[in-house]
This record gives sequence, C-alpha cells and structure tokens, in this order.
Amino acid sequence: MENVLDHAVRQFMRLPGVGRRTAQRYVYHLLRHGEDQILSLSAAVEALQRDIRPCSQCHALTERDPCAICSDARRESATLCIIGETSEIPVIETTGKYRGRYHVLGGLLNPAGGVGPEKLNLGTLLRRAEQGVQEVIIAFNASVEGDTTALYIARLLRPTGVRVTTLARGLPAGGSLDHADKVTVGLSLDGRTEL
Ligand SMILES: [Zn+2]
Repeated sequence: MENVLDHAVRQFMRLPGVGRRTAQRYVYHLLRHGEDQILSLSAAVEALQRDIRPCSQCHALTERDPCAICSDARRESATLCIIGETSEIPVIETTGKYRGRYHVLGGLLNPAGGVGPEKLNLGTLLRRAEQGVQEVIIAFNASVEGDTTALYIARLLRPTGVRVTTLARGLPAGGSLDHADKVTVGLSLDGRTEL
C-alpha cells in the first residue's frame, strides 16, 4: 500500500498547475506548521463538499440556493449571460457593465474529450430562454470548444426567437476569460455581435 506521505503528495498533484516538487513542498509545509494548518485546510475543503452546490436556477456553485444573483430582484431577468464555469462570473461582474443574470453550462462542448451536449446544462437553458428572456449573451473563452458550443447554442435557441449575441473578439485567441482584464471584457461586452 502507498505510504501516507506519497498519498498526500499525489492528492496535491491532482490540482491544476501542481507538479510533484510543488506537491512535496505543500506536504512538508503542512507537516512543519503542524496541526493548526492541517486542520483548517481539511475543514475548509470538507466545507466545500458539504456546503457548496449548484444554484437550482443558474447552476452557479453557491452556498445558498438560489444564489445571490438569482435572488437579487434588481437584476434584469430578460438578459442571460452564458458562461462555461462559475469562476467566470466574477470576471463579468468586475466590469460593472452587466446587470442581467447568468447561466452556467458546466463546461464547453468537446466531443473528442467526451463532453457532449448531454453533459452540459442545456435543457434548463432552453427552458429559461422560453420564459421571458430577450437576449442571451454568450461569453466563452476564445477556443475551438468555445466556438463550437456557441454555434450549438445559437442553433438550439433559434426556434425561441431569443436574440443571441457573443462577446466581441477583444479577447485574445486562445485566451481564457479568467485571465482577461476587466477593461478588455468590458469592451467585448459593449461590442458584442449577433450570432
Ligand atoms: Zn443562480
């Protein structure tokens, strides 16, 4: 059986951007700093599992359901911004230019990687689009998966008559929404185009 140290190292290595060396540094750091840090880290991780769930309306990961944005009556319900992951909401929010609501797909289409339409929150998107939504703004990363998913959604929503727009390409090709600065995202929100 794998020893305790190696097992811990391997768990850290499952995190994005963490290689063996870094994982070993984390493990020894925790051991050096004793019980306090180990307990607070494991409690924080357990709380993620226990207390965070997808919002029943927009699928954003949240502590309370409906999430803060869905339960905010001041947000316009006629506009939906579609994003791949919950982590992209703050990127749009920091522009201060968006007052609508969100819909989190839970990924982007990637047939080669085994992500088909059935893995994404598309059924609820269609249902929401049919209920008084006037515009859907697609805000994906500039990537093949982003483009494929955008076209799929445009086709899916066509029968509803909802206006489908996409962020202007101020975003660098291959650039992820997470890393774009708020001015760039704000500009691409202003210059969004019909899809
Ligand atoms: Zn929500």
